[in-house]
Amino acid sequence: MELRDLYQEVILDHNRQPHNNHDMDDASLSADGYNPLCGDKLSLYLKTEGDKIVDASFTGCGCAISTASASLMTDYLKGKSIAEVRHLFDDFHDMVTREDVPPNKSLEKLVVLAGVKAYPSRVKCATLAWHTLIAAVDNQGKVATTE
Ligand code: ZN
Repeated sequence: MELRDLYQEVILDHNRQPHNNHDMDDASLSADGYNPLCGDKLSLYLKTEGDKIVDASFTGCGCAISTASASLMTDYLKGKSIAEVRHLFDDFHDMVTREDVPPNKSLEKLVVLAGVKAYPSRVKCATLAWHTLIAAVDNQGKVATTE
C-alpha cells in the first residue's frame, strides 16, 4: 500500500478545514488527549441531553491523521447515544488494527481511516480522538494513548 492511499482526499480536506474545530463554553463533558508517539494533542467537548450527544467539538494541534480523525468523529457523534459510542469505539479500533475484520458499515465516512492499519505508528494518531472520547464519557479528564 502506498502512503498516498492513506492520505485520501477526504482526510486532506478534513485536515485543511476541520469540522467542529472550536471550544465549547457549555460542554457537559470534556477531556484532553495526548499521543506522545507523534505529539498530537487534543481537547474534546461534548454537549449531552440525557444519554444523547447533541453537539461535539475539539481543539488542539496534531498531524493530518489525528486532526481528520477528530473532525470526522465529532461530525459523526452528533445524535448518537453514549452507549452507542462506547460500542463504536470498539468497531473503530478493530477497523484500524485488524486485517481479519471488515469495517463495520455503521462507521460510515470514518472508513476512510481504515488505511492506517498498514502504518502501525499512525494507528494512535487515528485513535487519539476516540480514546479522548471514552475519557470524556467516563469523566476521566485526561488520557494518553500509551498504555
Ligand atoms: Zn499524529
